[in-house]
Amino acid sequence: MKVKKFGGTSVGSAERIQNVGKLISGCKKDVVVLSAMSGTTNSLLEISSAIKKEDKIQAANLICQLRKKYADTIDALFKSEEYKSQATEAINEIFSELNDLAEKPFSTKLEKEIVAKGELMSTRLMDLHLHEEGINSVLLPALDFMKTDRHGEPVEDFIKEEASKAISKHPDADLYITQGFICRNENGETDNLQRGGSDYTASILGALLGAEEIEIWTDIDGMHNNDPRYVEDTRPVHNLHFEEAAELAYFGAKILHPTCILPAREHNVPVRLLNTMDPEAEGTLIENNLERNSIKAVAAKDNITAIKIKSGRMLLAYGFLKKVFEIFEKYETSIDMITTSEVGVSLTIDNEKNLPQIEEELSKLGAVTIDRDMVIICVVGDLEWTNKGFEAAALDALRNVPVRMISYGGSNYNISFLIRKEDKTKALRLLSYHLF
Ligand code: ADP
Ligand code: ASP
Ligand code: MG
Repeated sequence: MKVKKFGGTSVGSAERIQNVGKLISGCKKDVVVLSAMSGTTNSLLEISSAIKKEDKIQAANLICQLRKKYADTIDALFKSEEYKSQATEAINEIFSELNDLAEKPFSTKLEKEIVAKGELMSTRLMDLHLHEEGINSVLLPALDFMKTDRHGEPVEDFIKEEASKAISKHPDADLYITQGFICRNENGETDNLQRGGSDYTASILGALLGAEEIEIWTDIDGMHNNDPRYVEDTRPVHNLHFEEAAELAYFGAKILHPTCILPAREHNVPVRLLNTMDPEAEGTLIENNLERNSIKAVAAKDNITAIKIKSGRMLLAYGFLKKVFEIFEKYETSIDMITTSEVGVSLTIDNEKNLPQIEEELSKLGAVTIDRDMVIICVVGDLEWTNKGFEAAALDALRNVPVRMISYGGSNYNISFLIRKEDKTKALRLLSYHLF
């Protein structure tokens, strides 16, 4: 059995849904995870922000526009009147729930219910389309089994048991369709796995259901060696080790959700990245296999804040770093990069939510400097310390870019540089030019 995930662009129009329908039509017993049609999650968030602003007219207009998009999709997707009317009824029901939600006062709980509608609609349409094509697909509601705990982590035993149960109820099904992204939190409320989280759903399900492979189908032929949105002439990387892919995803390669490799790696299930527009292309295979002596790819993570704490007291003082880390732990803020010297420590965070409190507490330990709008550039490959020359090559490529921090040695797979936002494109291009 395989788990196959199709992203927003892959199901972004009636034609694309039909195309995915063809791709999965022969997949016996596979679990197919779908994102919302592209643009829908953003539209739902806009609706939610109109509700937050108490702008009922704007919310109603946006709902109306979205409804029109789905009406047009249904028209183009289905051949028979019977299926058109079944799909219209299903989508109408979801829009009537949306209209009810739009009458309620804003809360984050409300926003999560609204944003979940995208995946609920795309899966319903795909399931009906497959039925019209004579395929016995079964729709498995992700909200019945995708559960997270109070830290937002998947509750593995529950997911494994409930998802297996849901599948075994339909032994005659050709394949199973489910929603990516959405889940229930510890209070049983509708929640989600963060933007781009359908990849994570697929990886969790593939790992826990013991799939032979997890396929992530998207709009590009695999993980490229640099970010194609900023650099021309990037090329697909055909093989990656789990750790390399995890570093790239975490440090900004948008093709994969940051935490999506984790479950697959823990359960040793290979992940394959494939292109829906070019299904024959080789794509990228991510598994427990390291290609020695090669730099694979470069990625960039935006919106990074650098914090420097300078303290005379750090000199020869043990326990200083512990005090620093405890402040970040207290405010539930994770640290990405860190460098130290005898007089101070520099570190980076990507979440400024609790920065004022953090800054206040850090000030008691030393002089604090904050630099916003920074970018982490991450070079990934076989960077085991005994390999010679790779660090020098990366540094040499960035000779003319001001570098605020360098982090190396934290893993065998990555060297990271902190630079200014305005230097990002130049740095990515220079690295491509010098390394590939
Ligand atoms: P989906 O909607 O299928 O989840 P995403 O938009 O989340 O697709 O991810 C695919 C996009 O990721 C590509 O279109 C590409 O622009 C972007 N991307 C960023 N970095 C990379 C990379 N290193 N390799 C491939 N694609 C990348
Ligand atoms: N629909 C969600 C988003 O746009 C989840 C996903 O596509 O993975 O972020
Ligand atoms: Mg994505």
